[in-house]
Amino acid sequence: MGKVYLVGAGPGAPDLLTLRAARILERADVVFHDALVHPEVLALASRARIVPVGKRCSQISTDQRFINRNLVEAAQRHEVVVRLKGGDPMMFGRAQEEIDALSANGIEYEVVPGVTAALGASAELSVSLTRRGVSRSVVFATPRIGKDQNDDTRGNWAQAVAAADTAVLYMSRGEAPQLVAALRAAGLAADHPAAIVESASLPAARRLHCRLDALPERAGETGPGPALVILGNVLREAVESAERVSTTCNTASDAAQSASAR
Ligand code: SAH
Repeated sequence: MGKVYLVGAGPGAPDLLTLRAARILERADVVFHDALVHPEVLALASRARIVPVGKRCSQISTDQRFINRNLVEAAQRHEVVVRLKGGDPMMFGRAQEEIDALSANGIEYEVVPGVTAALGASAELSVSLTRRGVSRSVVFATPRIGKDQNDDTRGNWAQAVAAADTAVLYMSRGEAPQLVAALRAAGLAADHPAAIVESASLPAARRLHCRLDALPERAGETGPGPALVILGNVLREAVESAERVSTTCNTASDAAQSASAR
């Protein structure tokens, strides 16, 4: 019987992988990986069979039970099995379901943490999520509701976000209009400072600052990379200066237009 390592690949940049993760990948016999894991990270697993199982990899089924069964079967045949996940494996990564399946089958496992996307985004913005005097609480949340009918966390994410000084919202860009409506209903002001960070830690990284109520419009300006929404007063200065810049630009282009009209 082998051992299964649930390994965090970090937010994207290959050199944000931990040394422990790199050493395990070098020994791996088989690697089941999420989409968005950098090719340089996969290349470390030079002796392994590489199996994509992420949502954005369309080759094979991504059904969670299928993945669980594969992990169990692989551990029965190989010594070192890696389940490689984006960011940190325990953060919105369905790691618990995999752990439960492994322990139900008596398979040894170990979790190797990674840099979660929220922290990659904080670095990308150069904004501390816990800036002294402004924020003493950070919530990591998602408005995305899984298919599980017994999910008893359905209703309370917006209140948790509204109660925190800073909030990081995973898997949220695609539902920006509903997100804004839920957060306004939970008490956040229309001008609550917000940012969208796309592809944090990668060369394609993008940062957009805006008010809460402008999120749906700004979300449309982002590209195909993974993105997070961050909210809170730690972003106030950046949002205000972005607004000043855009007002100046608009005024400048208005002036140019009226000049050319004349
Ligand atoms: N386990 C992962 C999160 C998985 S959920 C972690 O700890 O980071 C997938 C979501 O993470 C995406 O929808 C997006 O919201 C966010 N995400 C992942 N990588 C990102 C990146 N480089 N930049 C911004 N957001 C990212």
